[in-house]
Amino acid sequence: MINESMWEMGHTRSCIRELFEYGKQQAAIVGKENVYDFSIGNPSIPAPEGVNEAIINAVQKLDSITVHGYTSSSGNASLREMVTDDLNRRYGTHLTSFNIFFTCGAAPAVVSAVRALAVPGAEVIVQAPFFPEYRVYTEPNGAKLVIVPPDRPNFQINFPELEKRIGVNTQAVIVNSPNNPTGVIYSLETLEKLADLLRRKSAEVGHPIYIISDEPYRELVYDHAFVPFIPSIYPDTIVCYSFSKALSVPGERIGYVLVTDTCTDEIPLMEAIMGAARSIGHVCAPSLQQRVVALCAHVWPDMEVYNKNRLRLYNALTSYGYECVKPRGAFYMFVKAPGGNAKAFSDKAKAKNLLIVPGDDFGCPDYLRISTCVSYDMVERSLPVFKELIEEEMKA
Ligand code: PLP
Repeated sequence: MINESMWEMGHTRSCIRELFEYGKQQAAIVGKENVYDFSIGNPSIPAPEGVNEAIINAVQKLDSITVHGYTSSSGNASLREMVTDDLNRRYGTHLTSFNIFFTCGAAPAVVSAVRALAVPGAEVIVQAPFFPEYRVYTEPNGAKLVIVPPDRPNFQINFPELEKRIGVNTQAVIVNSPNNPTGVIYSLETLEKLADLLRRKSAEVGHPIYIISDEPYRELVYDHAFVPFIPSIYPDTIVCYSFSKALSVPGERIGYVLVTDTCTDEIPLMEAIMGAARSIGHVCAPSLQQRVVALCAHVWPDMEVYNKNRLRLYNALTSYGYECVKPRGAFYMFVKAPGGNAKAFSDKAKAKNLLIVPGDDFGCPDYLRISTCVSYDMVERSLPVFKELIEEEMKA
């Protein structure tokens, strides 16, 4: 017999993957240049200078056992120290190598944090719109995902609705800023308000309500936008970080969980996260990649390519009549569906080989996600199709 819920997760593709696969099929039929695929969030710029050099250096200068061998399950202690030293310099924190646990990206980092907090009846709250995989990261891992309706049109936090959903079972609130799918960065004011609310509610329910801060886009900002470091605002914060997007290495699988020294139950919490990771088959994060990211603390993505796409799409689409909050980080835009039904609009776009993701799975069925990590040339070629689609909708 097969576990039905696991089968279900493996059998059904996400809406994003569905469109992405469709795009590849269509390209074979109508030609790659006639498909405008804005479905997936795969970094479209090469790894910044320094990343490949660090790999080559490690392979050429160190012995093979050091480079490719197992490390301790948290990661190599001196490499963890290099990363936490860098965070201490940047954020004025007092982290040690104990506070960091290298993972294979943000996905298992979030899963481990959720599993570590999954006591019977546990609930994890997320603000819509949200990364659809959070359903998979929570529900099969022992925690119910509770969704807060969106704060339209600015997509910060809907505080009255959030407060209503916090109760004695609330173990954590997932925060993702810069946000996928909106590109919004939560302001300092929003985060301070969130911290005040969670402090008050933690006291009321008699246990800490943690923030799980999912941060794959922390370094991906435009116009020098400020991304507040959440542990400095709210002590009970677990940071789930990924190098996938900042270093354009999503296939290399490297990130970390950070249990800050200010967290309630710091030591048992970190131990529970290590246990949770072990229970999903974690042995250690890739040894070579641990080395690379420790050496690349000051390597930043060249945001100019994403910025050029962002500005061109934002300016063109809003001039045609689309409504959208201007993204300040990440590489997505979240656009209100003309006509109000994102699925119907996405289908009409698909018929013209324009692939944009309906917001249903993100918790916003009236919005569409556009990934801006694509080629500028494709952006240019797609604009007449975006224009045609909204004009047709206006006439209907
Ligand atoms: N969280 C968010 C919000 C994401 O957008 C992604 C990937 O797109 C992930 C987590 C997973 O990141 P990783 O590749 O590091 O597992």
